[in-house]
Amino acid sequence: MLIGGIEAGGTKMVCAVGDENGVIQDRVSFPTRQPDETFADMIAYYKDKDIKALGIGCFGPLDLNRKSETYGYITKTPKPGWNNCDIVGVFKEALGVPVGFDTDVNGAVLGEVTWGAAKGLDSAIYITIGTGVGVGVYVNGGLLHGLVHPEAGHILLMRHPKDTYEGKCPFHKTCMEGLAAGPSIEARWGRKGVELADRDEVWELEAYYIAQAVTDYILAYSPQKIILWGGVMHQEKLFGMIRKEVQRQLNGYVAHEMITDKIDEYIVPPALGEDPGILGAIKLGLDALG
Ligand code: ADP
Ligand code: ZN
Repeated sequence: MLIGGIEAGGTKMVCAVGDENGVIQDRVSFPTRQPDETFADMIAYYKDKDIKALGIGCFGPLDLNRKSETYGYITKTPKPGWNNCDIVGVFKEALGVPVGFDTDVNGAVLGEVTWGAAKGLDSAIYITIGTGVGVGVYVNGGLLHGLVHPEAGHILLMRHPKDTYEGKCPFHKTCMEGLAAGPSIEARWGRKGVELADRDEVWELEAYYIAQAVTDYILAYSPQKIILWGGVMHQEKLFGMIRKEVQRQLNGYVAHEMITDKIDEYIVPPALGEDPGILGAIKLGLDALG
């Protein structure tokens, strides 16, 4: 059985076809332009693929409330042309199949829970630290929604005593995204993260902020696995630094062996490489079959 999966991003739309075992058979990518022309390319791609369902992991904010008149919409985005866009409706009508829908990061955590590093667990979080910070939350065997959906990439953080950078988030300045995402590294140090690989002070601050957020997520959600990825986490030395710093910040308060003894298995990169988002989208499609 073939299922479609879309990772809908602000710069590109990754469209794939896979099966119920999470094996990707084919994929393409289209640049994100205005909705009409972008959707036309994506629909043409799926038209002859005989998919039984489609899943979409999408950039937000989104309306995920099934009782709402605007369920399945991208809601209030500053991205020109995309404000109030009925993405689920477009694909339902064009392809005539059930459509599953969630945030891109909820898609990614679902991919890892289904086929990756958190397989078999009933709670996990997926944190991507790239151009922005996004957090997908899976708890009690399901994806977390709520009033809207979690926006845990914007939690407010305590500033590192040595950090004088004002913070880059246009809404909060010194939230997680404003202090730790790729563009804030570049603004603080005047160079891109990849060019700062040998500057210890850069990664000391970075590990401090990421660990602070992870500590808060551990305290708030009690996840059984924490998966970290995104461009910034390609500095893989950060994993060890973050694990140590999480232990220091928790200070023995959550005395579970996963934190005290097995933190190397607790805070990990994805097991699905670069594919948790697209595989999660396929799982969203499978789940839409009911
Ligand atoms: P996006 O978040 O747009 O999907 P990425 O996850 O690739 O894309 O994140 C891009 C950000 O990550 C940029 O700000 C970039 O500077 C930063 N980045 C990419 N690679 C590295 C690296 N090896 N080390 C540090 N930062 C990186
Ligand atoms: Zn913010």
